[in-house]
Amino acid sequence: MGVLSHSSAFAPPPPRADGRTNLVGLSREELEALLVANGLERFRARQVWHWIYHRGATDFAAMTTLAKPARERMAALFVVDRPTVVRDMKSVDGTRKWLLRSPDGQEVEAVHIPEEDRGTLCVSSQVGCTLTCRFCHTGTQRLVRNLEAAEILAQVMLARDHLGEWPSPKDGRMLSNVVLMGMGEPLYNYDNVAKAMKIVMDGEGIAISKRKITLSTSGVVPMMRRCGEELNVNLAVSLHAVNDELRDRLVPINRKYPIAELLDACRTYPGTSNARRITFEYVMLKDVNDSPAEARELARLLRGIPAKVNLIPFNPWPGSPFERSTDRAIQTFGDIVNAAGYASPVRTPRGDDILAACGQLRSDSQRKSAAERFAEQQAVLKLYAEKEAAQPI
Ligand code: SAH
Ligand code: SF4
Repeated sequence: MGVLSHSSAFAPPPPRADGRTNLVGLSREELEALLVANGLERFRARQVWHWIYHRGATDFAAMTTLAKPARERMAALFVVDRPTVVRDMKSVDGTRKWLLRSPDGQEVEAVHIPEEDRGTLCVSSQVGCTLTCRFCHTGTQRLVRNLEAAEILAQVMLARDHLGEWPSPKDGRMLSNVVLMGMGEPLYNYDNVAKAMKIVMDGEGIAISKRKITLSTSGVVPMMRRCGEELNVNLAVSLHAVNDELRDRLVPINRKYPIAELLDACRTYPGTSNARRITFEYVMLKDVNDSPAEARELARLLRGIPAKVNLIPFNPWPGSPFERSTDRAIQTFGDIVNAAGYASPVRTPRGDDILAACGQLRSDSQRKSAAERFAEQQAVLKLYAEKEAAQPI
């Protein structure tokens, strides 16, 4: 546990409106420093950690292994906060989406995707995204801010609350995996993502192992190595095109970090092996990137990288300028990649009836006429131009 050099550099988070400080999201060292600075014994930190992250307690009165005066003092000074749930939606396929609101009024979504004997939580790392990938609805959001570590972590804790998975179960969890594939580019908010994930991985708390956490990036090359070295979580890379000309248009960060550089960073991503492959995500856009020639080129590009390919049928949203590839095109594409030795499962859209599928977060569900759709597309194109002019990549 904590070392003083850490604690002396630590500035406690600003208190809430009621004057109390939220303990969720502090590292072990920060928690210890805060308790000691408030006259509590150092060893209390470990006890409180256990209650917050293993037992899921939100009320100090329930922390019965702590002496009563310590509990009372903590209740006066601190809280164990949860975000406000603005909407809680459940799909016919069991997928669940929570719209969460922070005190400043900003909203993000977290999505739980249950499977037979496990389940994945899709976590957001930013409100909106500074990038403008052309097929992604999050990219059309103007307002962007990084989520705090506490806000990222809170998504996991809230899902645990709703799934009734406190204390941390060892086996049979329905929240067994975490994917950083919600709103935002996690490597543009690396410090907060890393802090939150270290708490999620801590064996005396939520205890989800790094092997069950996957971070998806659009290709922030300079941050990839650090992510691999420090967090060593699984990596997913949003490739989506096999030549720079097309990728420049679809995934504009490619103009800064082109395909060759991205693939080099993948080749040297720490911890990669045949048992632990990098996932390449490839959104299937009709007549844009889904030809057999592109499938062959994809297999060629990936040569030498322990990789699997995840084909994602495009999920439409209002104003989106693309269509989903046909089932046949997806099948043919997948067969070619497969035959070259790369597993290429198709990601079945989950929760699309509640707009929880990839790239649909924060969409609305109205049906539109052709004229309305055209107007929406024009508005989206205008928005991209403005957004990119305001914050060049
Ligand atoms: N910013 C990160 C993680 C969030 S997006 C990234 O880009 O990797 C998670 C995945 O969903 C990415 O592969 C993204 O390209 C994909 N995606 C975005 N919009 C989509 C859409 N409309 N249909 C299908 N997949 C989409
Ligand atoms: Fe941002 Fe990822 Fe969407 Fe691109 S795909 S706009 S990086 S969230």
